[in-house]
Amino acid sequence: MVGLDDTTDRDRPRFPEHGADADTVLADLAALHTGDIDWRGGRSFSLVYNPDDAELERALHGAAELFLHENGLNPFKYPSLVQVESDIVAWAADLFHTHPRAGTMSSGGTESIFLAVHTAREHARMHRGITTANIVTSETAHPAFAKACHYLDLEMRRAPARPDGRADLDAMEALVDDHTILLVGSAPNYPFGVIDPIPEIAGLAAQRGILCHVDGCLGGWMLPWWERLGEPVPPWDFRVEGVTSLSADIHKYGYTFKGASTVLYRDPDMVQHQWFVYDDWPGGLYGSVTTAGTRPAAPMVGAWAAVRFLGVDGYLAKARQVRDATRGFLSGIEAIDGLRLVARPDLSVFCFTSDVHDIGAIGDVMDDRGWNLDRQPSGLHAMLSPYHVHVVDRFCTDLADAVASHGESRGKAAGYGGIAT
Ligand SMILES: *Cc1c(COP(=O)(O)O)cnc(C)c1O
Repeated sequence: MVGLDDTTDRDRPRFPEHGADADTVLADLAALHTGDIDWRGGRSFSLVYNPDDAELERALHGAAELFLHENGLNPFKYPSLVQVESDIVAWAADLFHTHPRAGTMSSGGTESIFLAVHTAREHARMHRGITTANIVTSETAHPAFAKACHYLDLEMRRAPARPDGRADLDAMEALVDDHTILLVGSAPNYPFGVIDPIPEIAGLAAQRGILCHVDGCLGGWMLPWWERLGEPVPPWDFRVEGVTSLSADIHKYGYTFKGASTVLYRDPDMVQHQWFVYDDWPGGLYGSVTTAGTRPAAPMVGAWAAVRFLGVDGYLAKARQVRDATRGFLSGIEAIDGLRLVARPDLSVFCFTSDVHDIGAIGDVMDDRGWNLDRQPSGLHAMLSPYHVHVVDRFCTDLADAVASHGESRGKAAGYGGIAT
């Protein structure tokens, strides 16, 4: 038995003896919630993508309520959820130019990446006889790839990025060997918002008989609209020869609530590698196509509701807001003496720093003014949502003031300050 001394035992939280009424439960939760980041006012830059749309929110809440208790585990009991998932996959396939049945939904980017890496591992075992395997990414690839490799007993080889933040093809190629099963490119990467040279990475993969994954978790549900708005978008999706799989999160720029992503393949037969089927169980035949067993239905129908509510014109309108916000933020930052972008972003995600000021101290002053910029080693990081178009001027004014006054700040984030890339 685990020993608990008296003090610990007296202080430890106890399972609630008596139930509480619903109002009390909700009031308690609301009280806990007051300490959390407030994303509604456009002062946070990650975690929640504020679509600036009360009606969309109503549709999402209604969808979640309708399907709150449902379970996507057994497709035979839920023809509705089979339809919802096949619609979402077909819609995503339409956006990214692949076969309408070549993929599945998942609970998020991390799971989509896990499933694609797992598929690559199974594919390499089956078709190339590779048992000890590695994947090659740029150092900017999301930690979800390292996590997948950790779970799946694969080696992750990370190549240094180019000075512009994009993947360095030569550096990646130097890490490829006969055990490499997957090359990875991001569209865009999280740290700098730049799109890796996907045609080059996919070309190298095809030439070496290796699979190629594009991480569009962040950009996947935005880049098609960015392209239609006439913004420069380098080739990144299945229109690029050699791209074999792609992840794209609907719970980011697809504007649904958390728990919805898509993983897609060029070849619909690749989905078979995702299936886990187990028939040696007294409980009967068991099969699932993602890592979850019981599968919450609400995120699936939430994603469906977001797409049906917005459609092409809705997503284009949101993309226009995000683009205008991005232009405002970038020109505001560049107009401030002493600040610079770490890389010129391809999308609405960027990092800025300073060669003359303490960027961590500037972030602290912004914190004091109610902003919540994210810190990374190369500077301050922001990811823009439609709502941010309403705060461009306030942000730029506060940032200019912060730069002018940062010398008086407490410098509490000193560890993050002004590191040049
Ligand atoms: C968010 C993100 C992921 C991981 O997605 P989660 O939904 O957080 O699991 C992967 N890649 C990129 C580029 C991302 O921005």
